[in-house]
Amino acid sequence: MSVRVRFAPSPTGHVHIGNIRAAIFNWLFARHHAGRFLLRIEDTDRERSTPEAVQAILDAMAWLGIQYDETPLYQSTQHPRHMEAAESLLRNGHAYKEDKGGTGQGECILFRMPGTDMAFHDEIKGDLSKKAADMKDFVIVRSDGSPVFHLANVVDDITQGITHIIRGDDHVENTFRHVALYQALGAPVPRYAHLPMIVNAQGKPYSKRDGAAYVGQFREMGYSAEALFNYLTLLGWSPGDDREKMTREEIISAFTLDRVKSAPAQMDLRKLTHMNGLYLAELPLSEFASGVRRSLSRLDWGQNLDEALFLNVCRLMQSRTPLFSQSETWKYFFIDPPEYDEKAVQKNLKKEGARTALETIQRHLSPSDFSDSSIHAAIRKAEAEMGVGEGKLNQALRVAVTGSSIGAGIYETMAVLGAPRSLTRLKYAIEQLTS
Ligand code: GLU
Repeated sequence: MSVRVRFAPSPTGHVHIGNIRAAIFNWLFARHHAGRFLLRIEDTDRERSTPEAVQAILDAMAWLGIQYDETPLYQSTQHPRHMEAAESLLRNGHAYKEDKGGTGQGECILFRMPGTDMAFHDEIKGDLSKKAADMKDFVIVRSDGSPVFHLANVVDDITQGITHIIRGDDHVENTFRHVALYQALGAPVPRYAHLPMIVNAQGKPYSKRDGAAYVGQFREMGYSAEALFNYLTLLGWSPGDDREKMTREEIISAFTLDRVKSAPAQMDLRKLTHMNGLYLAELPLSEFASGVRRSLSRLDWGQNLDEALFLNVCRLMQSRTPLFSQSETWKYFFIDPPEYDEKAVQKNLKKEGARTALETIQRHLSPSDFSDSSIHAAIRKAEAEMGVGEGKLNQALRVAVTGSSIGAGIYETMAVLGAPRSLTRLKYAIEQLTS
């Protein structure tokens, strides 16, 4: 039997990472088994389902490269099938009508639970069971004639020939009812795998209050789709060794349900950001540069930058940039004089000997030979002349040239800035200290 799985979101708003992770796990499972991955839009809640929300799902999937096979099924088109199923359940005694409110407003249809204990095997959680006494009959068609989630969901899964249902573990309780529905409808029960919940640092369900929670937000913040995809695969799954950064092909080939954990998976934004940095570091320079350009284009100083300088800055900073938006701190490369960070100035420049140190450095630097190694050599000479150890002058120099105490290596930074800019800034800093 070939594998058929589906992602069945309800389009009621933004796409939460928990939902898209379910899509990813289904997709990986289908690709691993050379099966089919289907999309079903559960849009029966006509009031809450919006075309924008459907579009958000399609966009999120396209951005993350989760391609579905076959034409998406819109649940709202399946109404006749849902009603046929309800009728057949009525005919064979698995369902009955009742005027619930007793108000004569109309009757709803209830499913009759079998009255026996229920059990099913979950591929992740193991054997699960529930006592007959804890399961009540439930509504499958409301008095207004609209089918309830349980009925629509099961009937559509039968229609789509779904073999494995991989979804969030908030549906575990529903599954006992669903299994009973399959049996009553005479359809083979699919296999189930309920994914562990994604939680915050306190072990509570991860929500928008904990930080970015929707796919669109991560995209907006400049995370790469590949990094987010890779990171989400690790929320509840591991390849069985210590690999974390993996290509799609590697993940597909290692992806099996027995490696999905049942314990809640903790969302860690710092780890995602770190992973994003690994992906950014690998991009061709031109691609990295266009991501940076997009980020900077929102800033007043970030447009019409000197192209040669811009590319050199990108080359220098690429391996140290976990997120495109961090390029917003690169103003000091482009704008003269740089903005001086008062704290850094106090700590590194407003002190005994700082001016002499900068002047000594100034004497040793040669504008005609401004590679990072010759800058390094010049600084070593200045340090020797001043009788201080290696690297002791770096911070003062860095603050003088960039205005800040953080950044890439100062020799490389100066080489990228070039001699005219670096030396003008050095001179400017010395003048400021003198006046
Ligand atoms: N529309 C349901 C949800 O998004 C589908 C659950 C399922 O995958 O069966 O929670």
